[in-house]
Amino acid sequence: MTDVNIMSHHKPIADLKSIACTVIRSRRKTASLQVTASGVQVRVPYQVTQQWVDQWLASKQSWIEQQYARVQQFVVEIEQGALLPYKGAFLVLSWVHGQRSRVVLQGQQLLVTVAAKTDQTEADQVRGIVKRWYKKQALSILPQRLEFWRQKLQKEITGLKVRDYKRRWGSCSSQGEIALNWRLLMASPTLQDYVMIHELCHLEHFDHSPKFWRAVAQHCPEWRVSREQLKQRTAWMYW
Ligand SMILES: [Zn+2]
Repeated sequence: MTDVNIMSHHKPIADLKSIACTVIRSRRKTASLQVTASGVQVRVPYQVTQQWVDQWLASKQSWIEQQYARVQQFVVEIEQGALLPYKGAFLVLSWVHGQRSRVVLQGQQLLVTVAAKTDQTEADQVRGIVKRWYKKQALSILPQRLEFWRQKLQKEITGLKVRDYKRRWGSCSSQGEIALNWRLLMASPTLQDYVMIHELCHLEHFDHSPKFWRAVAQHCPEWRVSREQLKQRTAWMYW
């Protein structure tokens, strides 16, 4: 089933405070609902009326609001004193101006120096500097951990990349190459391990079949919890 001819519109749902709602119609048979930091995505079959959608959303109002509040808490803000998720804990962000841009990690303090530049806002500059720092850390930390699991699961991979994904935590190609989102570094080691085990198991099972999940469960019995926690943290992808 492919989504063809996607129609969508944005409108705040009157009863849902000001949560933006996108309705996507396609040749699907059932309706589904996804709540992300940017709002609610409703996927419905072509023939479903707007009135049905409105009523359906109204019936789920309190659940949607709860989910929305839950994902909102993971939105990354770049401001003085902001808490940035890092390895399952938080770093306290602060910045000063200086000759050269740089980042120093001192305990739980992430101290950024921003060199003057005119074409960007200060927050955007800091965001760029901090993201580069995270990517660098990810490059030195994630491959080591993947190698640990690769040996434990006795798998062969053809390569590993640390990527800037906006919609996924990791991937595994049919050629046996694994890619990990650098944002995984924001997550706890437990969640990092789950994603690595998940991708390594794809080397043998290329789908999400019961067989695949059984293989994952062998090394990660709590995979359901981890999968849910990562879903709640999709807002980490948006900065
Ligand atoms: Zn998968």
